[in-house]
Amino acid sequence: MIIAVDGPAASGKGTLAKALAAQYGLRHLDTGALYRAVARDVMAASGDLDDPAAIAETARHLDPETIDDPGLRKPGVGEAASIVAKHAPVREALLAFQRDFARRPPGAVLDGRDIGTVVCPDADIKLFVTASAEARAERRHRELAAADASIDYDSVLAEIRRRDARDSERAAAPLKPAADAHLLDTTNLDIEAAFKAAIELIEAAKSP
Ligand code: C5P
Repeated sequence: MIIAVDGPAASGKGTLAKALAAQYGLRHLDTGALYRAVARDVMAASGDLDDPAAIAETARHLDPETIDDPGLRKPGVGEAASIVAKHAPVREALLAFQRDFARRPPGAVLDGRDIGTVVCPDADIKLFVTASAEARAERRHRELAAADASIDYDSVLAEIRRRDARDSERAAAPLKPAADAHLLDTTNLDIEAAFKAAIELIEAAKSP
């Protein structure tokens, strides 16, 4: 079984994808971490975030073992990731890895922006997880402020809005629900309620 979980930054899709993978005994891939890791590698080499050919080369050499790096969650890396992710050759360079991961038995839950539309258009179940920008900024701010109390809510909200715009307006694999995706708005749901709602959608989709 392949489950695609797409949605904007800080919508809760990552936590949900992990919980769904545990529930159904599937592997989990956070595809945002691939783009974050490419951005990290480009910045470490003092490269240009707007040089598609050079970034695609970096993406082809990405070591997938390094995508659990906690440094990838730092503020700024998500934004840099959304800049490298605009470029079609960079996306192309990461496609085969994601598809191979999804296909390997017993199947997988992938979360990202274009899983249901581009990476796994034949996924058994597609979820598109949303929440208001304010609710997402609050969640992300709470997470980041635990490590650094100087981070303010307004700058987190501004980054989320910039990323939403960049991810939705780009030409290559923009953030959008697949035509057959189930929408899950988590603005007023905590993680347990979102998980329960997702399981109900999946079970309903599985039974003919
Ligand atoms: O999900 P996360 O916030 O970690 O993603 C970081 C960035 O990577 C996103 O803002 C988006 O630009 C890009 N991304 C993407 N396609 C994916 C996953 C992430 O373009 N499948």
